[in-house]
Amino acid sequence: TITKTKLPFQAEVAQLLHLVTHSLYSNKEIFLRELISNASDACDKLRFEAIDQPALYEDQPTLEVRVSFDKAAKTITITDNGIGLSQQEAIDNLGTIAKSGTKEFMSRLSGDQKADAQLIGQFGVGFYSGFIVADRITVESRRAGLPAEEGVRWVSAGAGDFEVDSISRPQRGTSVTLHLRDDAEEYLNLWKLKSIIAKYSDHISLPILMEKEEWKEGEDHKGGEMVKTGEWEPVNKASALWTRPKKDISDEQYIEFYKNVSHDFEAPLAWSHNRVEGSTEYTQLLYIPAKAPMDLWNRDKGAGVKLYVKRVFIMDDAESLMPSYLRFVKGVIDSADLPLNVSRELLQESRDVKAIREGSTKRVLSMLEDLAKKQKTTTSAADGQVDAGSGESVPAPDPTDGVTDVVDKNADSTLAAEATAGASDESGKYAKFYAEFGAVLKEGLGEDFANRERIARLLRFASSTTDTVSVGFADYKARMKEGQEAIYYITADTLAAAKNSPQLEIFRKKGIEVLLMTDRVDEWALNYLTEFDGTPLQSVAKGAVDLGKLQDEAEKKAAEEAAESFKPLLERLKEALKDKAEDVRVTTRLVDSPACLVVQDGGMSTQLARMLKQAGQ
Ligand code: ADP
Ligand code: MG
Repeated sequence: TITKTKLPFQAEVAQLLHLVTHSLYSNKEIFLRELISNASDACDKLRFEAIDQPALYEDQPTLEVRVSFDKAAKTITITDNGIGLSQQEAIDNLGTIAKSGTKEFMSRLSGDQKADAQLIGQFGVGFYSGFIVADRITVESRRAGLPAEEGVRWVSAGAGDFEVDSISRPQRGTSVTLHLRDDAEEYLNLWKLKSIIAKYSDHISLPILMEKEEWKEGEDHKGGEMVKTGEWEPVNKASALWTRPKKDISDEQYIEFYKNVSHDFEAPLAWSHNRVEGSTEYTQLLYIPAKAPMDLWNRDKGAGVKLYVKRVFIMDDAESLMPSYLRFVKGVIDSADLPLNVSRELLQESRDVKAIREGSTKRVLSMLEDLAKKQKTTTSAADGQVDAGSGESVPAPDPTDGVTDVVDKNADSTLAAEATAGASDESGKYAKFYAEFGAVLKEGLGEDFANRERIARLLRFASSTTDTVSVGFADYKARMKEGQEAIYYITADTLAAAKNSPQLEIFRKKGIEVLLMTDRVDEWALNYLTEFDGTPLQSVAKGAVDLGKLQDEAEKKAAEEAAESFKPLLERLKEALKDKAEDVRVTTRLVDSPACLVVQDGGMSTQLARMLKQAGQ
C-alpha cells in the first residue's frame, strides 16, 4: 500500500482541466452525466469480470448508483458499487488521459470557446468535468476482490497535482465527492439533480437512487423544511434504452442516448432501432452522426458500435460487427445468442456475428438510402408525391437474409433527429452526411462486394454540368445522351483541375456530362467498379476515347483521314518521345488544346501514378 503522496497530473490533463473549467461553464450540468456514466461503466466492468469470478460480487450482488448531496457541507457524492479502483489504477486513470489521440486533440484546440467546447464534447472529458462545478474532488474507492485495507483516497483541486493515500474501505466500488464552487450551489437541490438525471441518464440500465425527502413542519407550525427520510428510491427508469419498446422512447431520449454513446454534442442525422428475430436474434440501435469525429481516418480505430450480450456490456468498438467503411456508425448491438465470455478472436469466427454484421450493414445502407431519397425528392420534385413519413421510402428487406424485424421497421430510421430542425431540413441531410462521410463510404466498393451495387447507388459526385457534389450514377444515367454507351468520369486533385482538363473538351462540345472525381479514394475505389447498372464506367483520361454512336459518320471519317495524313509527324514524335511515351496518336477528344496526355487503357491513371509517387513508390 502507498503512503500519502502528491503527484503531478500529466501535462495534457493539466491543460485539459484548464480548458474544462474555462469553456464548459455554459453547460455545467454535464458533470453529472459524465460521473454517472463512469459509475455505470464501473458496474458494467464488474458484471463482466464476475462472469468468470462470481466471488467479486462479495455480499452485494445488486449493482446500483447512489447520488446524494449535503447542503451544509456543499457537496454532491456519486457512489457506485462497481469494479472500483486499485491504488495504482487511481493514479493511472485519474492522473492521465489514457485515450489515444489526446495530443492531436490538444493541437486542434483553437482558443475559441464555442468551438473548443464542441471538440471537448466530442472527445469526452469524462471524469475531469467534475471540476466545472467543484473546486475540489475527493474519490474514495476499493477494487472488487481486494481487501478493505487496500482502499484509496484521491484528492485534487484540479490545478497541477493530486494527492493519493491508502484508506480502509470495506465497501466495494467508488465514491466521487464534489466540493462545489460557490457559483454551483444551485445543484444542492433534490429536484434539480433529479431533473438532470432524467435528462441525461434515464437510459442507464442500473438504478440510480436518491434519498427521498419529505416536508417537516416547524415547531408550533411555523415554517418548516424538506428533510431526508433515509429511504432511497430510483430516479431513472433503469432499463437499457434499446430494450424498451419504441413507442415508449421519445426523440429526445434517443438523441440523449446517442450523445452518451458517441460523446458527440450534436444530434445524429438519423437512427434505426430494431429487434431482429430469426436464426440469430439481436437488437440494434444504430445512429448516423451529423459530424465526422477527428479520428475518422484512423482505420484501426474500429467501429463505434458497442456489443452487449443479453444486456451485459461486452466491449466497445467491436469491429467485427460493422465493416470498416461504416466505421462512422455509432450505437449498440445486443445479442441474445453469443456467449457472455466471447472474446474479440471468437467474434471474428462466429456465424452469429457474421449474420449480425450483414444485417446491420443492410440496415445502415437502408437508412442512407432513405436519407438520399428524401434529399432528392424534396429538392427536385415540387409535386410532393413522396410523403416523407411513409414507410415506402425504405426498400423491402432482402428476403434472402432470413431475418425479420418484429418491431415495425420502416418508420424508425429517419425520425426527425432534431426537434428544432423542422421538416425542410430533412432534405439537406443526405448532402450533410455525404460531405462528412462520403469518402469513407466509397471504401465500401472495394470492401463489400455483396453490397457494391447499393453502395455505388449512394455515391455522389460533381460533374461537368453541376458544381455541387450531388450527381449519383443513377441521375447520370437518366440524363445520358441518346447513343451514349458509357458513364464518363475524370479523376483529378481538385475540382478546378478536373474542370479545366483538356480531356473534357470533346465532351463539353458534344454536351456529354462527365463526372468529376476529386477525392483521394476515388481512383482506388473506382478500380472496383467497372460498371453501374449495366453501363460501363469509362475514364476520359484513359486510352482512346471511343465515343461510339455519339460520333457521326463525317467525324469518324475526318478522324481517319487526319490519322492518315499525320502519320509521318506521328512517327517523328514517337521517335523523339520514345523513352517517355508509349504511343502518340491523333485524337478526336480535343477541341481547343493542341495535345494532351492520356493513360493506356488498363494502365494506372496519371492521378494514381502521381499519388504513388508522392507516397514514395
Ligand atoms: P472514460 O470514462 O471515457 O474512460 P473518464 O475520464 O470518464 O474517461 O474516466 C477515466 C477513467 O477513470 C475511466 O476509464 C476509469 O478507468 C476510471 N474511473 C472513473 N470513474 C470511475 C468509477 N466510478 N469507478 C471505477 N473507475 C472509474
Ligand atoms: Mg467516462
